[in-house]
Amino acid sequence: MTSSKAVKQVVVVGGGTAGWSSAALLIKLMGKAVQVTLVESEDIGIVGVGEATIPPIMNFNAALGLDEKAFLQQTKATIKLGIQFENWRQKGDSYMHAFGAIGKDFPFCDFNHFWQRSQQLNMGFDFWDFSLAYQAAIKNKFGKLERIEGVNLPGLSYAYHFDAGLYAGFLRKYSESLGVKRIEGKIQQVLLDDISGDITTLVLENGTKIAGDLFIDCTGLHALLIDKTLNTGFEDWSHWLPADSAMAVPCESVQPIIPYTRAIAHNNGWQWRIPLQHRIGNGFVYSSKYCTDEEAQQILLANLDGEPLAQPRKISFRTGRRLKQWHRNVVAVGLSSGFLEPLESTSIHLIQSAVLRLLKFFPNNGICPADRDEFNRQSKVEFEQIRDFIILHYKLTERTDSQFWRDCKHMAIPDSLQRKIDLFRNTGRVFREQDELFTEIAWQQVMLGQGLVPQDHHPLVNALSAEQLRELLDNLKAIMAVTSDKLPLHDEFLRRICAA
Ligand code: FAD
Repeated sequence: MTSSKAVKQVVVVGGGTAGWSSAALLIKLMGKAVQVTLVESEDIGIVGVGEATIPPIMNFNAALGLDEKAFLQQTKATIKLGIQFENWRQKGDSYMHAFGAIGKDFPFCDFNHFWQRSQQLNMGFDFWDFSLAYQAAIKNKFGKLERIEGVNLPGLSYAYHFDAGLYAGFLRKYSESLGVKRIEGKIQQVLLDDISGDITTLVLENGTKIAGDLFIDCTGLHALLIDKTLNTGFEDWSHWLPADSAMAVPCESVQPIIPYTRAIAHNNGWQWRIPLQHRIGNGFVYSSKYCTDEEAQQILLANLDGEPLAQPRKISFRTGRRLKQWHRNVVAVGLSSGFLEPLESTSIHLIQSAVLRLLKFFPNNGICPADRDEFNRQSKVEFEQIRDFIILHYKLTERTDSQFWRDCKHMAIPDSLQRKIDLFRNTGRVFREQDELFTEIAWQQVMLGQGLVPQDHHPLVNALSAEQLRELLDNLKAIMAVTSDKLPLHDEFLRRICAA
């Protein structure tokens, strides 16, 4: 049974990226209709990682009406044009999941088919010759560019790297200015309604009581409401994604500041390098089945660009998702709703997408079970699609130099992913499922980058002679090279922003 009480008091529990993102969007869009209170505990603190994002963050920032310059300055952000995967296919090999378009869009037939045909004809083009984001990234260039001048092609798609603590602070200032009430304190007790089982009140250590109609659980890995209070089940995916730990440490910046994330595979895990204006965020992601904490720490410290700025810190997690992201009158947002390792920087996106979804389904006169079920269905599909994309990187490895990589290569994978791999291997085709986060181009880059070579291409490509195909590809390659050459250096872009 669910309360038919209208939702007037929303209580956000937790003040990390999830908490302040939720509070900010709710107050911005629902501010006149509801009261938003946020409770957080400085003693408990935030997880403090989570600094690389993907382009949909632009939609979230736009919904808040944020000023990009202020955002870049105050969160010490840098630009991200993609993720470079090093040593994933083989040691010494590297490819990028670059954002935005590759080549030119053709009706009925993706650009990769043209490139595949050129490969068969030994024309010597690299797939990433046609990615503006990749060409800019490797030259350390960035400038805002919506379209490429003179030709009908899209410009640069980008995201950010930012300091997680400063981002939470930035959103806090924004939310409080619009009327979010913040309460400091540790929750000691959670009171439930005897009949509905809904949460009614939070009791803090100092005795303060906070009542609410709808609770957003943003307590991170603590999952205080959705799990510890409501015991919502969890679907474990560690048989596909075995990492359960990360060792994180910031280090000093080095020049130039690169406009992309690096994901570097080692023998028994992988390392992230996230360049910010004032430091580099580093972490090593591993499974305790294959690597001890001491080894993880050693690998991490031996692979830093600059001097470490703190002691390495271990974070433990469990991969999978909460069976219901919305249970009774609690909506879990952020790490409390589930965890997927940060290989494709998807967690902050999942937060922002969950809050946007909650707004679409915002209860009017009480919580409608049909709304809640549909919210949960959509959240499940979203998590599963991202899960498959992440598994893809491991499954397609050609590495056999350690037990970890051999096990990844030989593991059974979800049917949904197997279908995608089979289709691409046979025909070079890949289709974005409805509303799926990752585009065909993202899938193509990872599949090609990991060495999955399609056996065929679309017959439309054969309408071009070899000379016409070469001319088309030569032109596109030149456009990407010339356009990226003309962009300012990323460092220069940041200097201009920070000086403003
Ligand atoms: P937290 O930041 O942990 O916040 C939890 C909040 O709940 C805190 O304010 C805490 O005080 C409060 N709280 C908890 N219990 C209580 C209580 N009893 N009383 C009062 N308050 C309480 N995401 C990305 O998008 N990109 C990345 O590159 C990325 N890298 C990651 C690397 C690692 C190793 C991990 C573990 C995660 C990474 N993520 C990444 C995910 C990202 O860190 C999180 O999605 C993001 O930080 C949001 O965290 P959160 O707000 O859910 O939790």
